[in-house]
Amino acid sequence: DVVVLGSANMDLVVTTDRLPGRGETIAGGTFRQVPGGKGANQAIAAARAGGTVRFAGAVGDDDLGRRIVAALASAGVDTTAVGRAGVPTGTAHITVAAGGDNTIVVVPGANGTLTDLLPAHAYAIATADTLLLQLELPLPVVQAAATHAHALGVRTILTPAPARPLSDDLLAAVDLLVPNEHEATLIAGVDDPYRAAQLLAKHCDVLLTLGERGAVHVTADAEPVAVPAFPVTAVDTTAAGDTFVGVLAVALAAGAAMPDAMRRASAAAALSVQQPGASDSAPTAARIDAFLGG
Ligand code: ADP
Repeated sequence: DVVVLGSANMDLVVTTDRLPGRGETIAGGTFRQVPGGKGANQAIAAARAGGTVRFAGAVGDDDLGRRIVAALASAGVDTTAVGRAGVPTGTAHITVAAGGDNTIVVVPGANGTLTDLLPAHAYAIATADTLLLQLELPLPVVQAAATHAHALGVRTILTPAPARPLSDDLLAAVDLLVPNEHEATLIAGVDDPYRAAQLLAKHCDVLLTLGERGAVHVTADAEPVAVPAFPVTAVDTTAAGDTFVGVLAVALAAGAAMPDAMRRASAAAALSVQQPGASDSAPTAARIDAFLGG
């Protein structure tokens, strides 16, 4: 079983011809509301890929929160450990201009209230095989969850996004770090992503993702293992990394070896980038099987 401790936001997305200037009001095109947040995205991707998945996070006691919980549940995610905060559900206010430029304001809301592990979250971790973490919740709860999981022997996978420096204590409690190139170089403090991955691998295993160039598993004591990305025409790479990690966790929890789990995760990410959208573009297990089989 997989538990995801992370953020849940409603993405409020407007399209415009161009980004407005300071103080300027312009007319928008379309408006969409899409459940998002890295935590919710990973949970939805994992559940759609066939995993038994529980989401541990928090939403507000409001309509957006109820809709996020409904979206998680309809993807097959167990929502019994979702906390209800006394502040509004987190929101991401996204403006996308015709050329693809965007601006994003994230209001953490309920996510920001999670500064320590809720009892329901500690229990969810204790009863899981694998814990997925990202950095969109306050750092103390990420550290507490990793420490708790480490003590219990629950495999902990951390997506270090948004990128920020990480303490040795946190890395020591993590089994697998899954940074993209930007995150790896920022955390390790060196310019070359491979060198960064090698440095980070002194603390924990690293799975460096390289966008359309695939991913490479770097450990302290074995040769690196690279798995290429599938050549597809990407229309929207939002949440590619979240789909990748969610599906990877499900495959590893089912007993797959790392190269096989990476191939499956890579297939799922390739499927997701061919459609617009974030959590709503994660493929089902059947689609992943068909893609790998065909
Ligand atoms: P993030 O979305 O976190 O920045 P990446 O861009 O490295 O992470 O993408 C994660 C994984 O998704 C890659 O390792 C790859 O397997 C897959 N992927 C990303 N972009 C593409 C693409 N354009 N074509 C095919 N696969 C992709």
